[in-house]
Amino acid sequence: MKKIISIGMMIFIFLVINSSVFGQQRPKNVIIMIGDGMGLSQIYAAMVANNNHLALESCTYSGFSKTYSANRFTTDSGAGGTAIACGIKTKNGMIGMGPDSVKATSILEISEQNQLSTGIVVACAVTHATPASFIAHQVDRDMYEEIAADFLKTDIDIFIGGGRQYFEKRKDKRNLLNELKNKNYQLAYTLEEVKKIKSGKLAGLLYEDHPFSMPERGNMLPEATMAAIDILDNNPKGFFLMVEGSQIDWAAHDNNTKQIIKEMLDFDQTIQQVLNYAKEKGNTLVIITADHETGGMTLLDGKFGSDSLKAEFSTKNHSGVPVPVFAFGPGAENFTGFMENTDFKTKIEKLLNLKDNDSAIKIKNNIYKKNQ
Ligand code: MG
Ligand code: ZN
Repeated sequence: MKKIISIGMMIFIFLVINSSVFGQQRPKNVIIMIGDGMGLSQIYAAMVANNNHLALESCTYSGFSKTYSANRFTTDSGAGGTAIACGIKTKNGMIGMGPDSVKATSILEISEQNQLSTGIVVACAVTHATPASFIAHQVDRDMYEEIAADFLKTDIDIFIGGGRQYFEKRKDKRNLLNELKNKNYQLAYTLEEVKKIKSGKLAGLLYEDHPFSMPERGNMLPEATMAAIDILDNNPKGFFLMVEGSQIDWAAHDNNTKQIIKEMLDFDQTIQQVLNYAKEKGNTLVIITADHETGGMTLLDGKFGSDSLKAEFSTKNHSGVPVPVFAFGPGAENFTGFMENTDFKTKIEKLLNLKDNDSAIKIKNNIYKKNQ
């Protein structure tokens, strides 16, 4: 009898540990949403213009991410994306590798190795720095054709954005579109084609280079995001998805407040739909953050319901201030207070219970130690 009780106890403990980390609920799916260049002023400008409301306000937990890179106080999107995706600080301009050019495994690749479905949906070319950080390993973010070829080295299930030219009009004459077809990807060149696909692998290359800016881009980002979720959701083991509001950064480089608001509201509309999904499912952790702030933007005056704000910018480039983090869903409580931008990967790995042998070996052997 005693034996049966202790076996029962062990099974109970096993179940508790498996479904939670120290009593917290574990998510089945993780969606990380990156607003490129999205600091607090960019967020608040959109909130003011939208009558004092944004969807991301319904996130239950918030914090700050420190964005400095391995060699600069102010990061670029290569090092910023690599920190979030791969959990290591690298030099500005580098993609998916440490400062010593040692390849680092991204959270997307680790999710893949653990049989989760994976995806990327962005409002830029899929070869651009932020999405590239999750999939590619190159010393320079401008190596778009090499980055496109790196997509073929992975088993990512879905990627949607622009950048078709880097897959077919290449110096090496490879036609990566044919190679994708041979790897069982369904190719889509319009949003309508994307929406027709309900299962399997999908390469959505909707623009030759970057998608248009708002408002010309229309509902591309929210609709492509929800189409991707619809397919990824088929995997009973769960999924990892990265969504990027890519062009907030570009409007901020231009110090264009009205355009920042347009791009922010498009990103927030995407957030709204993702949060609706997460609320309905109850098993999905949504993390919203930025790779860095752009423009050194501050707001001196404004009126709720109007996009005519008095904004000042201190630079046409990025700034070094920490960026906000918002989280919703099981595990969201792990994303509060100040954190390093390298913490996202380890936190997500723990919450999804992923095995990451590759990174563990490299960290044990101090391969990333230099310059960190
Ligand atoms: Mg970006
Ligand atoms: Zn930028």
